[in-house]
Amino acid sequence: MTSRRFLGALSGPDVPAHLREDFTLLTAEHMRGQARLLFVGFILSLPMVVYGASAGAGALVAYGLPLIILLLSATGLVLLSRPRAEGDFGDARRIIDTVWKLCLLTAAVGSIWCIASWASAPLETRIYYPAIMSIGGLVLGYCLMAERSVGMTVVVVTMGPTIAVLASTGMVMDLVLAIAMAIGVGFQLTMMVRHQRLLLSLVEERHRSAELARRDPLTGLANRRALIERFEAFAERSGAVRLMVVDIDRFKTINDRFGHDMGDRVLRTLATLLASHARGEICAARLGGEEFGLLGSAEALDPAIALQLLREIGCARMPHGETITVSIGVADAVVSSPEDWNPLYAQADRALYRAKNDGRNRVMTHQSGADPDRFQTEPQALRA
Ligand code: GH3
Ligand code: MG
Ligand code: MG
Repeated sequence: MTSRRFLGALSGPDVPAHLREDFTLLTAEHMRGQARLLFVGFILSLPMVVYGASAGAGALVAYGLPLIILLLSATGLVLLSRPRAEGDFGDARRIIDTVWKLCLLTAAVGSIWCIASWASAPLETRIYYPAIMSIGGLVLGYCLMAERSVGMTVVVVTMGPTIAVLASTGMVMDLVLAIAMAIGVGFQLTMMVRHQRLLLSLVEERHRSAELARRDPLTGLANRRALIERFEAFAERSGAVRLMVVDIDRFKTINDRFGHDMGDRVLRTLATLLASHARGEICAARLGGEEFGLLGSAEALDPAIALQLLREIGCARMPHGETITVSIGVADAVVSSPEDWNPLYAQADRALYRAKNDGRNRVMTHQSGADPDRFQTEPQALRA
C-alpha cells in the first residue's frame, strides 16, 4: 500500500472527510460498470494474447499468463455481479478493493507477458508488444480513473516496466517509443487528477443541494422534511421521543400592522431563540408559516423546555418593538417505525389546537398512551 499512498499524494484534491462516504459510493458506482466491461474485454482479447505471444517466450507466457488473466477476469465478473447493497459504504469499499486488486494483478501479468514476449521476439515484430501494452494501459487507466491512487498505480505497473525496458536498449527508435509512452502515461495521470476533481465537484454539488433541500431558506433552520428524517433516525433506533409544535399567536396581525418583511424578521428572531435549544439530539425546525418544531428523545427534550420557551419568547423584544406569545403543543410516543410520525404530529397538533382554544400563550401536552382527547395544561404559575 506504500506505493498507493505515495502515488495518491502526487497531486489532486483530497476528499474532505464529510464527503468521503458519498465520494466512495460514486466512485464504486463508476468502477463497477467500467470494470465489468473491462473484464469482458480481457476475456475477448485472450485468443489474441495466446496467438500473439512470441514463439520463443515459452509455454508459460503463451498459455499460463493468459490463463491467469482469464481466471482474474472471471473472478472479477462473478464478484461484481453480486447484488449490490445500494448506498452501503462497506459494499462500495469492497467493490473498489476487488477491482483494484484484480486490475493490479492483471496489469502485472500483462507486463510480464509483454516484456517476456518482447525480449524473445525477432526484432521486426517486437514493436507489437509495447503497442499492445499501451492500449491495455490506457484502457485500464480509463477504467480506474475514479480512484486516482489506484488508477495511477495500475497505469505505472502496466506501462512502467515496458517503458524502462525500451529506454534501456540503446536503440533510438525504442527510446522514441519509450518517450511517447511516458508522455501518454503523464497525460493519463493528469486526466485522472482532473477526473477526480470533477467527481469531487459533483459530490460537493449533490451534498450542497441535499443540504439546501433540508433547510428553510428564511430562517436557516431545518425544514419539515429534515425534521421528519431526524424522526426516522429516532424510529430506526426505537425509543421514546417528544415533539413540541410552537405556533406564534396572532402572527397575522404583525404582518398586517408592520408589513410582511417585519413579519419575516420576527420569524427569524424566533428561529434563533429556538435554535439555542437545539443541542445534541434535539432538532429545531420550521414546519411551515409561523409554526416551528422541536424534536428530541424524550430524555433530552425535557417537558420543562416548553415552559422555558414560553417564558423566553414572552420576554424577548422582537424586531417590531413588541413582545409576542406562542402556543405550544407537546406529544410523546415510543416510536419504532417511520409511520409513527403522522400520529405523533397529529397529537402535538391537537394539543396545540387545544392550547389556542384555551386562550393561547400556553403549553398543552398529550401524554402517550392516554385518551387521544385528554390533554394536560401546564401549571399556570410557570407561564410567562
Ligand atoms: P393563531 O394565533 O391562531 O395561530 O393566529 P395566526 O394569525 O398566527 O395564524 P393564522 O394561521 O391565521 O395566520 C398565519 C399567518 O402567517 C398568515 C400568513 O400570512 C403568515 N405567514 C406564513 N408564512 C409567512 C412568512 O414566511 N412570512 C411572513 N411574514 N408571514 C407568513
Ligand atoms: Mg399562529
Ligand atoms: Mg399556524
